[in-house]
Amino acid sequence: MNHNLYSALRQGFPSDLQQMAVETDQGLAYSWSDLERGSAMLANWIHSLQLPAVSRIAVQAEKSVEVLMLYLACLRSGHVFLPLNPAYQHNEIAYFIGNAEPALVVCTPANFGWISKIAFQAGTRYVVTLDDQRGGSLLERASRHSDVHTPVVSKPDDLAAIIYTSGTTGRSKGAMLSHANLLSNVRVLKDYWGWQSDDVLIHALPVFHVHGLFVAIHGALLNGSKMLWHSRFDPQRVLDDMPRATVLMGVPTFYTRLLALPGLNAQVCAHVRLFISGSAPMLVDTFESWQLRTGHTVLERYGMSETVMLTSNPFKPDERFGSACVRIGGSVGFPLPGVSLRIVGDNGAVLDAGEVGSIQVKGPNVFAGYWRMPEKTAQEFTADGFFMTGDMGMVDAQGYVRIVGRSKDLIICGGLNVYPAEIEDALNNLPGVAESAVVGVPHADFGETGFAFVLARPGVELQSDQLLAALKAKLANFKVPKQCQVVSDLPRNSMGKVQKNLLRELALKSGSEKSGSDTN
Ligand code: AMP
Repeated sequence: MNHNLYSALRQGFPSDLQQMAVETDQGLAYSWSDLERGSAMLANWIHSLQLPAVSRIAVQAEKSVEVLMLYLACLRSGHVFLPLNPAYQHNEIAYFIGNAEPALVVCTPANFGWISKIAFQAGTRYVVTLDDQRGGSLLERASRHSDVHTPVVSKPDDLAAIIYTSGTTGRSKGAMLSHANLLSNVRVLKDYWGWQSDDVLIHALPVFHVHGLFVAIHGALLNGSKMLWHSRFDPQRVLDDMPRATVLMGVPTFYTRLLALPGLNAQVCAHVRLFISGSAPMLVDTFESWQLRTGHTVLERYGMSETVMLTSNPFKPDERFGSACVRIGGSVGFPLPGVSLRIVGDNGAVLDAGEVGSIQVKGPNVFAGYWRMPEKTAQEFTADGFFMTGDMGMVDAQGYVRIVGRSKDLIICGGLNVYPAEIEDALNNLPGVAESAVVGVPHADFGETGFAFVLARPGVELQSDQLLAALKAKLANFKVPKQCQVVSDLPRNSMGKVQKNLLRELALKSGSEKSGSDTN
């Protein structure tokens, strides 16, 4: 039996391949036949290069439908797709290429000079170019090849992709995902989220990350659903497309930016059946504001590069909970079918409902390990095969999972655990606070204490000392950050995650410069 992911996705294409599969914000239309034929030409070209088996194909290019076709071509040809964020610079690219040793590198024509130098020095055989206007040598070379191609026969564990983790501490690691990891996950989501062939997905996420590449694209392809393809997230464009769409997948920032548009209302969202959020925690305030403005309840889900999707709030009523279909703000829902999730304490014991500990997971979607890092891989799996996600969380009495933050963000103040998410939640509920982020900084007496960064709502002036005083009335004293700074913005990565490593540096700098807001 062939376990090739492309072959499985291809079975979901509609029988009429002339129907439109992708419509872009640049006015281009691609049929299902275009996806099939374009990826076939690319796969035939890749085949003609006679690359060694399981070659890595690294791609640093702007988002385009041709990148999608190239991904499909990698799957068809049995090689490994390795997408790289276009924002990566020289040192980062040198690390990824040196670590992955790709046989083929695809980059933009503008970056060809320096990237090809790095790649050829690292032993890469071919470097070709692709821009977001269908220009560059890649398509020109593929155009000489046949548009008919039979996918190679893949085994379930054959590698399909390597996704480098965003790596806020230490070196980024390449998560190795197999055809079976990816296929099992999209099959579960097809059912869990009730995908339909007449769904229309707004695709405004990047395609170098699991969310946009696997969750969104696989979902649309396996279900033969059309995509409205946005080359980048522009809230007004998303709003303009909303009346034609049935599904939107986004990071929380999508939702906060859409809420800032006066035109967002129930009428414009009337056709949409599902709003999905993930990749970073959605504020309860955003969740509730969305409900109020649009009448829709966002479905929040949780996953990561190493595992694809792990948990989801329910899409439809679940017999386990009577006829209710309750999506809860601040929760990431239930483990998906086939996923085992447990919360483990410091001593390795599995904890009861309501207790906070490390989240460990097991399932057909969980990756095989980190590329060329056997020791790191061994460290992050338990003896009984659970992957230690590095996230802290709890499962409540109803079975809903809540994330309280990354374990490395945990603050240990005077020997007591302080979970940043709890402090952030308390801060966010204070009048005038739009959002907050709390990080740990060294403290001579307590070992570590919290440092809060707070973003005010528009037009509100906040005072650090008053915020800390208000927190003292709500939380045990050891949890209250010793320092607080009101900021005009929080640093985020391209997936909307607050970059706590940058905040930690800022806190250290600001702590050594002034101690004015230190309340001790
Ligand atoms: P990445 O590998 O870039 O997808 O990042 C995965 C990490 O993002 C997870 O380990 C979580 O820390 C975080 N994450 C993803 N989805 C959520 C969510 N819905 N709520 C809170 N954190 C999330």
